[in-house]
Amino acid sequence: MLLCFSAAAAPDGSGAAGRRCGRALADGSPTRLTVAIPASAAWLSAALGSAPRLGCLVSHILRPAAAYATSAVTDAADAAGGDTGKMHVCVVGSGPAGFYTVDRLLKGYGDKVQVTLLDRLPTPFGLVRSGVAPDHQDTKNVIRQFSDVAADPRVTFLGNVAVGRDVELAELRRLHHAVVLSYGAESDRRLGIPGEAGPGVLSAREFVWWYNGHPDARGLQVDLSQASGRPASNRRLRVERTVVRPERPGGAPMAVGSGEFDTIPCQLLLQSVGFKSLPLQGVPFDPKRGVVPNVESRVPGDGPASPPATEPRLYVVGWLKRGPTGIIGTNAVDAKETASAVAADTGVLRAAAEAQHGAGGPAGGVGLAALLAGRGVRAVGWGGWLALDEHEVAAGRAAGRVREKVTEVGEMLRVCGV
Ligand SMILES: Cc1cc2nc3c(=O)[nH]c(=O)nc-3n(C[C@H](O)[C@H](O)[C@H](O)COP(=O)(O)OP(=O)(O)OC[C@H]3O[C@@H](n4cnc5c(N)ncnc54)[C@H](O)[C@@H]3O)c2cc1C
Repeated sequence: MLLCFSAAAAPDGSGAAGRRCGRALADGSPTRLTVAIPASAAWLSAALGSAPRLGCLVSHILRPAAAYATSAVTDAADAAGGDTGKMHVCVVGSGPAGFYTVDRLLKGYGDKVQVTLLDRLPTPFGLVRSGVAPDHQDTKNVIRQFSDVAADPRVTFLGNVAVGRDVELAELRRLHHAVVLSYGAESDRRLGIPGEAGPGVLSAREFVWWYNGHPDARGLQVDLSQASGRPASNRRLRVERTVVRPERPGGAPMAVGSGEFDTIPCQLLLQSVGFKSLPLQGVPFDPKRGVVPNVESRVPGDGPASPPATEPRLYVVGWLKRGPTGIIGTNAVDAKETASAVAADTGVLRAAAEAQHGAGGPAGGVGLAALLAGRGVRAVGWGGWLALDEHEVAAGRAAGRVREKVTEVGEMLRVCGV
């Protein structure tokens, strides 16, 4: 099989998608990989070994996982805490950014907080489950840390609850002092070239989700059949060779077209030009960057730009805030900023909730669970996820693997017991 694979300039998170696709396919042997690299990506040559390449590269910077101090949140929460009942915070999305934020909130507020953690899937952990490669089990070990956070009695995990489908953001805001959006980047950038929506052309996100057992990708048509001899050229990709030149004398080098073109026949074409977040109704969105804009983690409101007015009680973290860049540890640093913003606003958040609900305060996760039950939403609690986890690990053990994922939501819910 000949496969053409575009891995554009994304040196960390989304570039990883390209690298993983390359690895996954290269492991399956008689595949021939062609990689078009319009800009820097030294890691790719290591990942892909002898795959023929076009264009070329500069460097890859690995950022270290962040040191994990708690002081800013603790101080602000202590200063603004008081004894007037618990702070109810809802975190939407249980990927690394969501979990690190919950962890920060717990450490900062101590016993003065109750956190509701939502995910649209019955399963937690976001891209740690559906992005990080199956052969990188060490990286997935962070799940243990996240599981300790979720098992904390101050945390209510509700899986299979999608904001915008099962519950509206306005309802979450009414039930909590603050809402933190951490629902990641679940769409794709596009090259904007003819033919990219055709059969045999997939995004790296779709492909990564498919081989990681994400339920949204289980029906994806991925033809990995091996062609004998020359591949049947279902698709052809026209590429222009690049040369690296300084932008201006003494300036940074950049890849520019050479005017020399190739046509590559291929059976499967994977675009890896970046992930992109989806907008949520009622929340400001920057369509160009594909993120929710923010002022130090606070979502901007309709008021004056200077000083920047922010949407009351709404915060953002992770890939939804920064765009699809950074490793898992980058989200820990980011979560520190977001949780610190919530903590610093505690007094204002409490006053707003009191004006709305009186001294009793908002109903939090308990109120949300009741609302969902009334709607017939089959929300998965942490115990339900643990049952599914045990089921998958046992099925994996029987098949000589780490785990055998359940990929169909109905079956997941059955195993979760909801
Ligand atoms: C292919 C790939 C491989 C990677 N490999 C590594 C690696 O080896 N090491 C490393 O350090 N980093 C790696 N990364 C980067 C790392 O995965 C990200 O930095 C991190 O997952 C981003 O965290 P997040 O919480 O912002 O988003 P996500 O992890 O995407 O989490 C978002 C969560 O929100 C949920 N959600 C979405 N919409 C809704 C909604 N409407 N309502 C409720 N919930 C919703 C999703 O189901 C998901 O659980 C990789 C990334 C990719 C794409």
